[in-house]
Amino acid sequence: MNAQLDGMAGEMLGRQIERAGIFVRAGRTVESVYGDERIGGAFLDDGTTLPADMVVLACGVRPRVDLARASGLPVNKGIIVNDTLATQIPGVYAFGECAEHRGKLYGIVEPVWEQAVVLADVLSGAKPQSR
Ligand SMILES: Cc1cc2nc3c(=O)[nH]c(=O)nc-3n(C[C@H](O)[C@H](O)[C@H](O)COP(=O)(O)OP(=O)(O)OC[C@H]3O[C@@H](n4cnc5c(N)ncnc54)[C@H](O)[C@@H]3O)c2cc1C
Repeated sequence: MNAQLDGMAGEMLGRQIERAGIFVRAGRTVESVYGDERIGGAFLDDGTTLPADMVVLACGVRPRVDLARASGLPVNKGIIVNDTLATQIPGVYAFGECAEHRGKLYGIVEPVWEQAVVLADVLSGAKPQSR
């Protein structure tokens, strides 16, 4: 959730989850999982062990930028765009999950809708000043 929530919102969510009886360990990394035929648990980077019957990986998504990179578009984590969703190559725009705007990748739908509106405004000429 670190892409969507700041520290304070993360703590609020953590408290809600703990109220539901789920134990939260934030700020730790799983170094490895153990078990033979069945999962036994996970070793964390602070040396502690979490016994577990099940492991769920929820490690986020990453834009597929290989095609953009191979095409010579400037790419960092995503395809770099300015406030009009333009890349540095004239006439080439990017928006949505693959676009990196002001260093940010959003990872949820709502900003994608906003970007779609801005790009439609700019490309159609209806509101060229849209940002
Ligand atoms: C498991 C999961 C749960 C999510 N839950 C939520 C949620 O609850 N709420 C929320 O707001 N957001 C959620 N999201 C995020 C949301 O799905 C994305 O923000 C949204 O789909 C981004 O839309 P997009 O059109 O930019 O990209 P995408 O939906 O990823 O669409 C990109 C499309 O481009 C295609 N493509 C890629 N490369 C090429 C290529 N070279 N040629 C042709 N086509 C190509 C892909 O196959 C894909 O169909 C979730 C994402 C995941 C993975």
